[in-house]
Amino acid sequence: MSKKRKGKVYLVGAGPGDPGLITVRGKYLLERAQVVVYDYLASVKLLKHVPQGAELIYAGKKGGVKHTHTQEEINQMLVDWAETGKMVVRLKGGDPFIFGRGGEEIEFLSDSGVDFEVVPGVTSATAAATYAGIPITHREHTASVAFLTGHEDPTKENSNIDWSKLATGAGTLVVYMGIKNLPIIVNNLMSNGRDPKTPVAVVRWASTPEQRSVVGTLETITDIVREADIKPPALIIVGDVVNLRSKIDWFEKRPLFGKRIVVTRTREQASELMAGLEENGGNCIEFSTIKIEPVESYEVFDEELERLEEYHWILFTSLNGVKYFFERLYAKGLDARNMKGPGIAAVGKATADLLLEYGVRADLIPTTFTGEGLAESLLDQGVEGRKVLIPRAEKAREILPETLRGAGAQVTVAPVYKNVAPDGKREQLREELESGKVDMVTFTSSSTVRNFLSMVDAESDADLKRLMHEVTIAAIGPITAKTVTDNGLTVDIQPESYTISEMVHEIVDYYKPDGML
Ligand code: SAH
Repeated sequence: MSKKRKGKVYLVGAGPGDPGLITVRGKYLLERAQVVVYDYLASVKLLKHVPQGAELIYAGKKGGVKHTHTQEEINQMLVDWAETGKMVVRLKGGDPFIFGRGGEEIEFLSDSGVDFEVVPGVTSATAAATYAGIPITHREHTASVAFLTGHEDPTKENSNIDWSKLATGAGTLVVYMGIKNLPIIVNNLMSNGRDPKTPVAVVRWASTPEQRSVVGTLETITDIVREADIKPPALIIVGDVVNLRSKIDWFEKRPLFGKRIVVTRTREQASELMAGLEENGGNCIEFSTIKIEPVESYEVFDEELERLEEYHWILFTSLNGVKYFFERLYAKGLDARNMKGPGIAAVGKATADLLLEYGVRADLIPTTFTGEGLAESLLDQGVEGRKVLIPRAEKAREILPETLRGAGAQVTVAPVYKNVAPDGKREQLREELESGKVDMVTFTSSSTVRNFLSMVDAESDADLKRLMHEVTIAAIGPITAKTVTDNGLTVDIQPESYTISEMVHEIVDYYKPDGML
């Protein structure tokens, strides 16, 4: 009889938000996980450590929003996965045993006879204090600190929190989940003897590029938070140590803090640029290269290949169009001799040069290297009743086929390749630009410019200009800069020597307040 091995559940603290703040042990376990059940507060960036093919389950739980799974469902899910023999990581924001219901999950595992381990994490209270420049204890100011929840129902009669003791009993108080009840919390503290002038800080999304903090006193903080529109997740830090922030604040003072910077990179490039920008506080959004892939079905194209000689024109509108056209031609046992009949047109010189490498000379190259230019040159030749084949990307601008059809040509568009942007990224980039949240876009080569433009997929030059109106552009060197200006955009930052580290320096200088060196 084969013995069925049970799996094990690792309850791992993800840290407060910055993915660099997970423990070495936590990362080690993520790298070996077969199932990861993660929370709203656990940074999704940590999921990059998880091996491909592992099961990723979002357990949700965002204050005020409908819970994705109930606590009972989560408990049961952990047991069920462990019983299938899997190595399960239960990833929770901050420390699992600090207001994380980690205790309840472990009790359930224990009752169900499932093996477990708990890995602590950097709790958001200490992270928020550190990243807001507030030493949570200090010899001169406080010798004690208390963590409490502000989530308790304020009308509850027998509160678990003894405000009369806590209000003055601990030097520093850190309140989790307290934003909604902030007015009640500060009242409880004041009415139980805490000085209304006691300084208070509220820190949202601590340790992440979205961190925001405001400072006031017990008397004023409620209004300040309302005016600043600070929403959860945020922590309330109460105590004299808050005053030290004016000297110690370091995180929000970094030169690129709060700047949203789009980094377009090709697959070959290391993330040196991102690391350099993030080191200075930049909030980088990475868009890696678009991949070019063959289309799923060559049905349309193959049929046309059979009757190439019937065509009057074959139009090549991109380098990839040429490449994939010939790959398919060869795969079908044909070659350039089968293209004897039709005239060959290329959208630009580079495309014509590539055609020549395949043994075919272009008969027509327009003076303006665009779809419109090509259409115009063909119209000059007269296209009425002419059969035109356009092997091209699955998704491309329709201006060329439409113009030709309008002039009476019989146009067949045959997709031979497709651009695949990383999942959802294309829409995300577009949204980022539309919302006006992007401060800067960086380009480290001409191909990053082209990739960016094709991902933005602007309808026209005017549309592109509109989207990029408020965006600063950094280009690594003159060739890259030229590609930017050729596309009608303006370069704002260009380092003297073409290196990533110089580029980072220039970007930092650009954002430094005047006079600071
Ligand atoms: N186990 C977690 C706390 C979970 S309770 C920990 O140890 O940090 C959820 C509350 O934690 C939020 O309502 C908020 O008060 C706080 N919190 C978690 N992450 C935070 C962050 N990055 N910035 C500010 N507050 C955070």
